[in-house]
Amino acid sequence: INILAIESSCDDTAAAVLTNDKILSNIVATQEVHQQYGGVVPELASRAHQQNIVPVIHQALSKANMDKSQLHAIAFTRGPGLMGSLLVGTSFAKSLSLGLGIPLIEINHMQAHILAHFIDEKEFDKPTFPFLAMTISGGHTQIVKVTSYFTMEVIGQTIDDAVGEAFDKSAKILGLPYPGGPLIDKYSKEGNPKAFPFTRPKVGGLDFSFSGFKTAVLYFIQKQLKEDPQFIEKNLEDICASIQYTIVDILMHKLKKAVKETGIRQVAIGGGVSANSGIRNALQDAEKKYGWKCFIPKFEYTTDNAAMIGIAGYYKFLEKDFADFSATANSRYKI
Ligand code: ATP
Ligand code: FE
Repeated sequence: INILAIESSCDDTAAAVLTNDKILSNIVATQEVHQQYGGVVPELASRAHQQNIVPVIHQALSKANMDKSQLHAIAFTRGPGLMGSLLVGTSFAKSLSLGLGIPLIEINHMQAHILAHFIDEKEFDKPTFPFLAMTISGGHTQIVKVTSYFTMEVIGQTIDDAVGEAFDKSAKILGLPYPGGPLIDKYSKEGNPKAFPFTRPKVGGLDFSFSGFKTAVLYFIQKQLKEDPQFIEKNLEDICASIQYTIVDILMHKLKKAVKETGIRQVAIGGGVSANSGIRNALQDAEKKYGWKCFIPKFEYTTDNAAMIGIAGYYKFLEKDFADFSATANSRYKI
């Protein structure tokens, strides 16, 4: 089965070509226009998708050495995401499937972040059902109980900011460019994680909250800057390490609780923040300490990509779960 997958939910225009569960090409055009604004500007994202989508799809097909006549289906991200961005991918996918006379498959972006674990890759084990997935990204923070490819239940989630926002907003307070998550990770490696203790939010159950954390970082930095205007420059590594340590601790605390409550000890992470070295190390420790089996996706399948849309599309294809042409983008599409 040859599938072309299209992802355009936020600020990356992506296309991938798969044969069954194998990735033949995985192309991502990252939009740089947003950097100067310190965050994604929806209208600009939508315009950039329009410019990028045709070249990105061409590139994906040519890298896969595949002609569009060989395709069996088109999979696309229906949501969640930015409406203007989603509409570009949705309209394109519908037109192409109509033009080629092949089925259309609609995909939930958050399910795809989880199903990325089923991409066939040497050296990467796949989880077995049931497992817990923690999706940690720029727009989401969820713990999901996964009982089959498309039976997923959100058992915990953030009540305000996503964990990626906590990283990016903390980085902004430190004067780092957007997106600052990877930079916090980088500076953390040279810093002392216990240098500056930050308080952890108190939220019940398996839910998360990160807006209070961001404010705590802001007040702390403002206070220190009054005493020493060079405070950030002098302590950047320690500040970053302390921020990362606290965020990872918050995530691990709830994950441990979820494992305890469900009795499921297979844990898979997904979403852009799973590139973070702190969370990766914490999961490796948990394997040794608590006997968990942890799954961390290959780097290119953590942030937004179309390969994950394609693998989700492949499993929907097997179930003959096709969309019709009334399919619409849904910015708040639930798992
Ligand atoms: P969603 O999937 O919820 O729609 P998104 O697609 O914008 O959100 P992703 O592309 O999955 O999010 O992830 C982007 C986020 O990951 C950003 O907030 C970025 O700072 C963060 N991130 C990426 N690498 C790292 C890292 N090494 N450490 C911490 N955060 C990171
Ligand atoms: Fe994403």
